[in-house]
Amino acid sequence: MIGNGSDEIIDLLLRVVPEPDRDNIVLFRPSFNLYELQAKLCGIAIYQIDLNPDFSFPLDRVKEHIDNNTRLVFLTSPDNPSGHTCPAASLAGLADILPEHCLLVVDQAYVEFCQPKGQFDVLPLLADHPNIIVLRTFSKAYGLAGLRLGYGVMPEALANFMLRVKLPFSVNLLAEEAGLAALDDNVFLETTISLCVSERKRVASRLTELGAFVLPSQANFLMFRPPVPAQKLFSNLLRKGIIIRPLASGYNLPDYLRVSIGTSEENSFFLTCCAELFNG
Ligand SMILES: *Cc1c(COP(=O)(O)O)cnc(C)c1O
Repeated sequence: MIGNGSDEIIDLLLRVVPEPDRDNIVLFRPSFNLYELQAKLCGIAIYQIDLNPDFSFPLDRVKEHIDNNTRLVFLTSPDNPSGHTCPAASLAGLADILPEHCLLVVDQAYVEFCQPKGQFDVLPLLADHPNIIVLRTFSKAYGLAGLRLGYGVMPEALANFMLRVKLPFSVNLLAEEAGLAALDDNVFLETTISLCVSERKRVASRLTELGAFVLPSQANFLMFRPPVPAQKLFSNLLRKGIIIRPLASGYNLPDYLRVSIGTSEENSFFLTCCAELFNG
């Protein structure tokens, strides 16, 4: 089913699947903010599992956090903000061990940027794993964030319940038309992906050379720990007209920053500024 951004699908899942004041969901910590925010608004209890120190998912520890009232496990792959990505085969393994009353939601907002995509794309698993829900969006690789269009792929019976709750006109006509056109525009998509992949590699190796610790990323952003205080670097970059994401608020990672991959010129300007600012 399509939604006003995949945000709407996340919200609907939390309103339709778990029962307030009875059921719970499982989230990794840190993870994309919206899962926790909407779950709290809905009165759903949240069980959190800390990510491994390298920001990978402790998949072997999920089972011990699940009880008779766990309805959803949310997992973001590629993950936001780290960029860490879980092979689809491992997620199939996780889906296999979940109890019948619990669904695995795999948020793949950044999957188009994965290399090789086939190794990480969860959509092909759905035929054999009806307990997996995949979320995708037109906001990232397709560049249509402001039009608000995303979708979730799930069993028909669940989609049917969700459609009864969804506001009938939440997705507007312009977004529908743009989404259909975007699906036909392979040139734009391929150009965006190849630019992102080559620049991601270049920015990561230069940042490392300059003394930053850069997490491996399959997304269109990099998370890194600079060799100078993160908050100070953020404000100094801001003064030069570069807006990146500090990760203290929402993610509780005060030593880290997340930078989106831009055009080659934008990235070069960012790297030049970092070269200057990393020296104090
Ligand atoms: C951007 C993003 C979304 C939501 O995107 P929409 O604009 O609502 O489609 C969902 N999950 C993650 C992890 C994101 O980064």
